[in-house]
Amino acid sequence: MNRRTFSLAALATAFARPSLAAEGTFEVTRTDAQWRAMLTRAQYNVMREEGTERAGSSPLDKNYAAGIYHCRGCDQALYSSEHKFDSGTGWPSFYDVLPSAIETMEDNRLFSTRTECHCDRCGSHLGHIFNDGPAPTGLRHCLNGVSLVFRAA
Ligand SMILES: [Zn+2]
Repeated sequence: MNRRTFSLAALATAFARPSLAAEGTFEVTRTDAQWRAMLTRAQYNVMREEGTERAGSSPLDKNYAAGIYHCRGCDQALYSSEHKFDSGTGWPSFYDVLPSAIETMEDNRLFSTRTECHCDRCGSHLGHIFNDGPAPTGLRHCLNGVSLVFRAA
């Protein structure tokens, strides 16, 4: 890939997700073409464009087997089944996250302020964090199942 092609790809990525691009660089980085090649269209839309999968569409929503949920973008371990609960929203929900796994950012789209969360290793969008979760944290990490890969314990 020559320099011009790379620059155009980087530019396209910046426009596609201006908020994440502003975050800087991650340990795992890929060109837009590489992301598109490794992800389905639905996965790309959520993980790289901060889209939201349709509620109830992920088989992981009702998955309560013991195991770890990894980032689809870089395989980093993100969430444990120990912290999963049924929020009734139609999206996989957790009240806590594994240490050093995610970064958060203020999301001011949709006429409200929400807390966005993404993988701290590759920057892939995961979902949002709300303050209406169960004890002990009171948090609800509302995630897109397409961003996750479940590995049974
Ligand atoms: Zn990742």
